[in-house]
Amino acid sequence: MKITRRTLMATAAAAAAVPAGRSIVGPANAAAPMSGKQVPTIYRYKLGEFEVTVLGDGAIKAARPDTVVANQPFNEVQRALEDAFLPKDQIVVVFTPFVVNTGRNLVLFDAGFADNGPPGVGLLATGMTAAGIDPKTVDTVIISHFHPDHISGLRNKAGAAVYPNAEIMVPSGEWTFWRDDGEMNKAADVWKPSFMHTRRVFDPIANDVKRFELGKELVPGITSVDARGHSPGHAGFVIASGNAKLLYLADTTNHPVLFARNPEWHLWADMDKPMAVSARKRLLDMAVADRMPIAGYHYPFPAVGYIEKRGAGYNFVPAPWQHVL
Ligand SMILES: [Zn+2]
Repeated sequence: MKITRRTLMATAAAAAAVPAGRSIVGPANAAAPMSGKQVPTIYRYKLGEFEVTVLGDGAIKAARPDTVVANQPFNEVQRALEDAFLPKDQIVVVFTPFVVNTGRNLVLFDAGFADNGPPGVGLLATGMTAAGIDPKTVDTVIISHFHPDHISGLRNKAGAAVYPNAEIMVPSGEWTFWRDDGEMNKAADVWKPSFMHTRRVFDPIANDVKRFELGKELVPGITSVDARGHSPGHAGFVIASGNAKLLYLADTTNHPVLFARNPEWHLWADMDKPMAVSARKRLLDMAVADRMPIAGYHYPFPAVGYIEKRGAGYNFVPAPWQHVL
């Protein structure tokens, strides 16, 4: 560039616009561009001889945070959020499927959205790749209940099975309820899309889906637990390897800051609200009594920790990070 009085002045003006300590000369790639995207959300821990890989499917902001808790004024909900150092004008709902390698079975618990969800979800596949798990090697998928955030990811938008070699195991109470056209016709409008998702996901494999009763062992080391209330056949699970046990609450407790701290609060999506409260207390009491770690589908990542009694409710304590397996 030929230096003239005009270019000199322009250079001086540009230099004045650069923050102190940063040069306008030198390579232009000194500052890295912002990615604007989260990295794959994965974490791995040991449970006895089992290996658990947690795979975040992403998160959404509740469209109407003021309606998330059905039986409380929003200012009470905001107080609980603020007490937990969370922003009080929004509720972020996360989705946390996980894979358990028992040595005999490779089991996925709940399936996220795949490409059928709103923006911000459907990250499970990226996480699986990053974790070195091929979806074709998943031999069992265990579903806690049929709400769309748990089953949509079994089949992508194009119609293909995402886990083509897996046996799909579902609570029989969920199967009976959501496959019933009479129930669909009389359901509130908010639940109609869930009935449709159930048909989209399961119709092509209706004869192959394995239905289980609550309280039964599904594969060696994994037993279902009665957690009905959130939905008519909602299941929790105990995952056990030797003396190590994990209680998967599924949706027994949505965000722990709201519903473990305040077990009598009603989540809008709890379909039988009094029954959901009693299931919540029963399972959280079990976790307290046995000092058993829990996993929760809507718990903050990596969604594993402990439950302690606090006041009239419970408190969630995240598990220490396992740095070495
Ligand atoms: Zn859910």
